[in-house]
Amino acid sequence: MNLDATLNADLHCHSVVSDGTLTPEALVERAKAGGVQLWSLTDHDEIGGQQRAIDAARAAGLAYLTGTEISVSFAGRVVHIVGLGFDHESPEMIEGLRATRGGREPRAREMAASLARVGIHGAFEGALQYVGNPDLISRTHFARFLVEAGHCTDVPDVFRRYLTDGKPGFVPHKWAALKDAVGWITRAGGIAVIAHPGRYDFTPTEEYALITEFIGHGGRGIEVVTGSHTAAEFVQYADTALEFGLLASRGSDFHCPEESRIDLGALPPLAGRLTPVWAALEDRIHHRA
Ligand code: AMP
Ligand code: MN
Ligand code: MN
Ligand code: MN
Repeated sequence: MNLDATLNADLHCHSVVSDGTLTPEALVERAKAGGVQLWSLTDHDEIGGQQRAIDAARAAGLAYLTGTEISVSFAGRVVHIVGLGFDHESPEMIEGLRATRGGREPRAREMAASLARVGIHGAFEGALQYVGNPDLISRTHFARFLVEAGHCTDVPDVFRRYLTDGKPGFVPHKWAALKDAVGWITRAGGIAVIAHPGRYDFTPTEEYALITEFIGHGGRGIEVVTGSHTAAEFVQYADTALEFGLLASRGSDFHCPEESRIDLGALPPLAGRLTPVWAALEDRIHHRA
């Protein structure tokens, strides 16, 4: 396996262990069918699915990097940090993620109370019906319930009308600190990557602050080709990666066959001028062919 920019690496997706709808085993099959050559399961704030992903990838003959996507509070906004190639048995990381997840249930109860005030009742119990991991109730599970109950037409419609800053159902939350998330990943032997930088609506000054602080804490990568970026952003963030000397990553952010725009393995490749994050993780790849 040649670890250059042309590799079909898909290093960002979600299973039932967070807010995806497929099992780790079903995702392996889908990744194989989509032509993925190197895969990572990156559940939100949770690495409980990693051993299943490693085992299923081994059985399917698919090269695998451990993964997670950590929710971080930065400059009053939520930023996602993807971790790749870390030791998934790292006690520090397991404990840090457990603490990060801890606030989700009280937050979900507050979200339901807020929705009840605008006439939407039973949202906590409704969202729970979609939850695969009781430790990880997410806005996505609320969105699926609101669609099913007929309050909205689809998941993006829910996020437009509810569940985002300033809308009923949104509850501000304090997530992990940037320094901690990057530290857990790095000290467990992995590489920290800024997820979908084009999604944060930062000013150039805020984005500069995020990237420089991230690098200061030991972060080394940035997503360039992701299901969350436009084609123009593939080019923009390729420039950003080069400007800051960051390793480039690629991943669909696949959640669900019905909801996700981009399937596993279906994105364009990274530009050849970039250094892919997987080239720096050669020793961390499980069952490389
Ligand atoms: P949470 O971690 O509970 O705040 O939920 C965040 C998740 O909601 C993200 O990982 C996405 O899967 C989903 N999400 C956030 N914004 C949107 C949006 N505008 N449209 C669809 N899904 C979204
Ligand atoms: Mn998600
Ligand atoms: Mn994300
Ligand atoms: Mn994601």
